[in-house]
Amino acid sequence: VLKLISEYIQLKSDDDFLIESINERKTKKRTLTVPEYAETTVISAGKYRGAKFLNSRAPYLIEPMECMNPGSDIQDVRLMFPAQSGKTTAWELACLYYMAIKPSEILYVAATMPSAIKWITKRIEPRASQQGIIFKAQTEINSTRRSGNTVIQKDFPGGNLDLASACSASSLASETKRIVGMDELDRWKEELKKEGSPFDIAYARTQGWGNQRKIMAFSTPTTYEESLILPLYEDGDCRQFWVNCPICGEPQLLTLYEWANHGLKWETINGRLDEDSIRYTCPHCSQDWYEHQKGAVLLTGIWKPSREPRTPYIRSYHINGIYSPFLLWKDIAAEFELTRNNQEKLQTFTNLKMGMPYKISGTRPDVKDIIQLRGTYKAGDIPPGVLFLVVGVDCQRGSAKDLNNKQRIEYEVLGIGAGMRTWSIDYQRMEGDIYNAFSPLWTGFLELMKNVEYTRADGMKFKIDMIFIDSSDGDTSDVIYNVARRMSYVYPIKGEKTIQLKKNEFFDELSTRSDTPFKQRRIDADLVCYHISTLHYKDRIYRSLKIVRTNKEVQPMGFFDFSKSHSDRYFEMLVSEERTKKGYDSGGRRNESLDVKVYGCCAGDVFLRMYLDDMRAEAKIKGVSAYECSLINTHDALKELILETKNENYYKGDPCPYNVFWKGNKK
Ligand SMILES: [Zn+2]
Repeated sequence: VLKLISEYIQLKSDDDFLIESINERKTKKRTLTVPEYAETTVISAGKYRGAKFLNSRAPYLIEPMECMNPGSDIQDVRLMFPAQSGKTTAWELACLYYMAIKPSEILYVAATMPSAIKWITKRIEPRASQQGIIFKAQTEINSTRRSGNTVIQKDFPGGNLDLASACSASSLASETKRIVGMDELDRWKEELKKEGSPFDIAYARTQGWGNQRKIMAFSTPTTYEESLILPLYEDGDCRQFWVNCPICGEPQLLTLYEWANHGLKWETINGRLDEDSIRYTCPHCSQDWYEHQKGAVLLTGIWKPSREPRTPYIRSYHINGIYSPFLLWKDIAAEFELTRNNQEKLQTFTNLKMGMPYKISGTRPDVKDIIQLRGTYKAGDIPPGVLFLVVGVDCQRGSAKDLNNKQRIEYEVLGIGAGMRTWSIDYQRMEGDIYNAFSPLWTGFLELMKNVEYTRADGMKFKIDMIFIDSSDGDTSDVIYNVARRMSYVYPIKGEKTIQLKKNEFFDELSTRSDTPFKQRRIDADLVCYHISTLHYKDRIYRSLKIVRTNKEVQPMGFFDFSKSHSDRYFEMLVSEERTKKGYDSGGRRNESLDVKVYGCCAGDVFLRMYLDDMRAEAKIKGVSAYECSLINTHDALKELILETKNENYYKGDPCPYNVFWKGNKK
């Protein structure tokens, strides 16, 4: 008994000693704030890899990190930042702080599981080991066997770090967490069918922690319509980073106003950026200062709220790339120059360099501007540049009472070129019975499509390569399937706002809903139907319609050309729909030529994909390795088509980039 008692006493005193030493450790380190702690770490990747982390390098990260201090009232931090601005670093340092200084339960949510794993292996583990944090074990929890969703949990003394993917609700719903980081929200799926938004699910997991919780959500925005970070940013107090002019000392926001005589400025010589001319012009004293002064200017900066937060305890921050020490002004200027004749690039620039959402909605292109796009060629002519022809067909049931709205089809013969350029060759309507696959209307149409031949000025002949017919109307879908069975290159299509995937289908890592343009659905052994994202194509068409004709022979990438015979009605229908937050709304206006353009553009994409598949199959037969075959891309397909149609001279000097929608073929 005595032995036991003495052991007990021994144990107790060991215990006390342990508690004391922990307390001591706590009080000693408690004085460290997140930014102070940050300076004890080393940068794991990028330009400053291996160097000590210095708050003075990107002073705008200090305040968001301070919000993550245990003593701060702020529970929610939201960063709408451009790429390469350090937003992920701010989160990482906060995360490490809650591993080393105040061990806690942490959740990190990325758009996909592979990106979450990449984050922990590339960015956290090297830093953690440098900080002496040892992960005890790696538990892989198979939370739902059926979906096969895996949660990865890393344990460290006093806490753990869960990795989850925003794509899978089941991986998000588990035990309560004090610290949550949500990365690249704008690449998340907006909602997980029934389970609700991944943001809300992750958020709910912090509730047990009351005002002790810390949530950091950060992303580069996408568009006003679809961005998830934008509404979160607007919920907060929308802070902006004010810096002082190094010459006159006036506080200001750094901006890029092309039309103003202040802001980030540069000259071009013969269309080429003059790097030496890049400077920042102050709106107050009109003096110029240069990039080497940026570091000093940043040190004068303070965050100022631009509104009352809608919800208390939320701080939101926005900054653009001009401030970033990780982005060079010459790269910003060069990228901006590229947007001049490329609307697609303008969105990328706005998002990645300026950290701003891109605005598509609110307006529709003005008919007066669009009518000016009428070209110089006659309907039925094939202008140089056209590589192949597709046809989009819209079916209208019409109204027996309205003579102007008879039962009919409307179709467009569309020429497709490299760099997503299109030429409207012809637009026609044919009246007749659309409800019978063998009606004179359908027979006549198919005969015409089979036999029609268009001739380019030099004698080169073009035939129709692919036809897409709308089968969205439930009453006609079987008829359209039967029409499609009559000719091999005719396909039924179904327009959907965005492409919905079934359980076993996945988006590739880069795709989000809005940029997955189409998918194939097999009807039976002989027939496939294409499901088209109308949102994707209408956005693309509206972007293209903003591109102004130049006086060069080869128009800018993405340019849409029209024959001089196209009617006013055609152009009115083409811009009939308004882009709203929910999608496109015709407001009851006739919109056939827009629908037909959607089908044609998609047929162009599908044709190119098939052409590419054929090239790969052919290479395989010739004995080319599977890997080499996989390297054949849309660029190669376009090159082949350019040679086939004798368009080399036309595209000479053109970058001829492969269609930008094509992201998944590098596997
Ligand atoms: Zn000044």
